[in-house]
Amino acid sequence: MSELDVPESHPRYQSLLTRHRIAEGVDRGITSRQGLIAEGRGEAFDYLLGERTIPSADDAARAAAALLRLADRPVISVNGNVAALVPGETVDLAAAVDADVEVNLFDRTDERMRAIVAHFRDHGADEAGVAVRGVDADARIPGLDHERAKVDADGIGSADVVVVPLEDGDRAAALAAMGTSEVVIDLNPLSRSAQVATVPIVDNVIRAVPTVADHARDLSGASRAELKRLVREFDAEAALAAAEDAIRSGRLE
Ligand code: ATP
Repeated sequence: MSELDVPESHPRYQSLLTRHRIAEGVDRGITSRQGLIAEGRGEAFDYLLGERTIPSADDAARAAAALLRLADRPVISVNGNVAALVPGETVDLAAAVDADVEVNLFDRTDERMRAIVAHFRDHGADEAGVAVRGVDADARIPGLDHERAKVDADGIGSADVVVVPLEDGDRAAALAAMGTSEVVIDLNPLSRSAQVATVPIVDNVIRAVPTVADHARDLSGASRAELKRLVREFDAEAALAAAEDAIRSGRLE
């Protein structure tokens, strides 16, 4: 048995675990109530994808790992859903690619910011040498309203590659307009965030974050030329089309 009172062999195990973590996130003041709705939307797409990492998403995860390995200042942007679902896995990915974690909330409150930062510390950020940013909020993303524009000058404000799991479309577009390369993890291939991404990964964050970390470790000995080739050969439009096709055709394997 796990943190959930359900055996891992249960056919709906992953989806039950996801719901459990999100509900607990709300109870602990980490996840917003709107986060519950976002989760429901994601679950519907995941169901149609067969709750698996499709081959095009695995290719995207490898390209994302290469992009992160090439980055000078990579940052993983996290919100209340990501904090509830994959806190330890996010710290592990950040450590694997030498990235900072930055908390960015659609509905920013000081209380929730502090709760999420503490949550990442509880999941080993300090021990792994991973900085958890977002509290300073001393820079702005141009083109967004005041609250949602806030970022850390030393974090997303000066990052060259940002991983944005479950980002809202406006912020993803504004970051792209700043010239920041974006790895977007989103189960909806039609979302604006996925559409503006340098590397869109159409997969559940629960699977995608560890998958990118595995690829990053696997690529630790790769040359810069090899990493650049992986990024160059990745076709974002084809990846989104493959995901949309998997969802629409409903071929559940
Ligand atoms: P956009 O503006 O990008 O078109 P949105 O802002 O309207 O989309 P929201 O409903 O605010 O989208 O955000 C939820 C998004 O996150 C949805 O696209 C949903 O598919 C995705 N999502 C939710 N849960 C997960 C998850 N566990 N893993 C990956 N993606 C998820």
